[in-house]
Amino acid sequence: MIGKATRRAGAVLAVVAAVALVAAGVWRYGYDQALDGLARRGEADLALASDRLTGQLQRYRDLAVLMAVHPELTGPRADEVLQHAADRTSVLNIFYLDGRGRVQAAAHGSQPEAEAALIAGGFVGRAFDGALGTGHGIDPSTGLRAFYVAAPRFFPGGGVQGALVVAVDVEALEREWRGDRPAVFFTDEVGEVFISNRSEILFWRRSEAGLQPSVGEAMPRARSDSGGHEVWRMQWGPYLPAVGLHIVRDLPTIDMRAEALVDVAPARRLAWLQAAVVGLVGLVVAAILFWAMERRRVLAVANATLESRVMERTTELSGAIAALRREVAERQEAEAALKKAQADLVQAGKLSALGQMSAGLSHELNQPLMAISQFAENGGLFLERGKTDAAAGNLRRIAELAGRMGRIIRNLRAFARQENEPVRRIDVVAVVETALEMTEARLAKDGVILEWERPGAPVWAMGGEVRLGQVMVNLIANAADAMSGGEMRKLSVVIEAAPRPVIRVRDTGPGIAAPEKIFDPFYSTKEVGASEGMGLGLSISYGLVQSFGGAIRGQNAEGGGAEFTVELEPWRGEQAA
Ligand code: ADP
Repeated sequence: MIGKATRRAGAVLAVVAAVALVAAGVWRYGYDQALDGLARRGEADLALASDRLTGQLQRYRDLAVLMAVHPELTGPRADEVLQHAADRTSVLNIFYLDGRGRVQAAAHGSQPEAEAALIAGGFVGRAFDGALGTGHGIDPSTGLRAFYVAAPRFFPGGGVQGALVVAVDVEALEREWRGDRPAVFFTDEVGEVFISNRSEILFWRRSEAGLQPSVGEAMPRARSDSGGHEVWRMQWGPYLPAVGLHIVRDLPTIDMRAEALVDVAPARRLAWLQAAVVGLVGLVVAAILFWAMERRRVLAVANATLESRVMERTTELSGAIAALRREVAERQEAEAALKKAQADLVQAGKLSALGQMSAGLSHELNQPLMAISQFAENGGLFLERGKTDAAAGNLRRIAELAGRMGRIIRNLRAFARQENEPVRRIDVVAVVETALEMTEARLAKDGVILEWERPGAPVWAMGGEVRLGQVMVNLIANAADAMSGGEMRKLSVVIEAAPRPVIRVRDTGPGIAAPEKIFDPFYSTKEVGASEGMGLGLSISYGLVQSFGGAIRGQNAEGGGAEFTVELEPWRGEQAA
């Protein structure tokens, strides 16, 4: 994690460094280009300033040459003429020197000695040599900077008669271009600034690394060469650039050198702007690239996580599916086992019922058989004595008893057949009668009083005769069991026809101990080992009644005892027909 973060930070630093390097290159290139442009403009500006100065001075040269040949110059009105000319041209002074260098005439009342001292300088000499001389210096009479032009005056026959000197007010020339851009100054042969449009550097002297004030401390400055250009760094005041491009131009016509200091701030600004734009674009591009890479990386990581999660889930799911399959198989096995157990139980229940019934049946069949043999014996005796009527009565009784036995046996056969018995129309009354017949002996033995109101008409319902019969036998046997220990033993069986066919079996026993449990298989309160204590009778009855769409319920009756109701589906088919 830390390794990754430092790697990323390293990459970011490298990109930023690269962008900075490119921006620096752009700055350098842009600066050089801008300096070239500045230099070209500066040179043009300097040429313009120089031309202006030389142009201005040229006027005074012409003035000197013209005045030198003035006819009145040697006459009595010379002063007046010169003054007139000086006033017109606003020069500092004009004066005429004779052949020996003495001031003959002057425009503004001169101090001849001072002027003589001044003109001892070379330029007057050049005029006496017959050429045009120029020079500069401080005008002694005014203390102002002056530019001098000296022109020779010739004798009519040749030879130099004298010299006319014009002293030009340099400050008046400067006044026109003071403050102009760029800063321009003109240095003389000794390197002193004599003319400039920035007054603060007047009389400064050229030195190794620039200019230096003539008096006082040296001003801080530095020089450097940038792309073939000379750049000065200085703190020379508010009207001079802090960093300036130094441009030089020789002016041999006035023996001076023109120099300019062009402010490089615009070039720097331009270079910075270009570098900033390039740097910004570089950073933006880098940021976009970085963002895209980061995004791809994040996506890849997310993808990998997702895939691994999907794999995990898939394995989990396959595990779950396998477990489910196992469970389903187990359930199926359990279900099969349960079904088998249920089938076995039903079988066991049936066997138990069969046992009960066969016990009842053998008793039931025994009685009529014994009665038949008795009647047959008596019948034989009646016939011997010729009492045919009595014998016929006996035979009738025998026939009745045989019929009854036949019915009992039919029941038994039907019981064996019950598996395949279809649900069809049955007469509930007949079924109850049969069940009562089958349990008659038992009830009689227990001394149970039977309350049975036989309905006058059949009550039709959907069901199976044998199965319903089995249910009834079971209910009656249970009632007899319940009452076996009691004082009052009364069993009432009622059939209701409407709205649905219902059979009610009510006893006067102790009632049901746990009504919610009685239909559970193997629930029994009877003693283990007793003949009918299997706890299957009611659960089998429940299944049988349900098999033909009915319902069986058991509850404690008001006034004591238990009451079982069997509700059946009415048979509608024939009524509709
Ligand atoms: P078993 O008769 O073998 O006990 P049954 O399923 O027929 O099994 O009956 C279950 C239980 O229901 C009986 O043990 C008994 O406690 C109760 N029971 C059934 N009929 C009556 C009744 N008429 N009166 C009181 N209790 C009854």
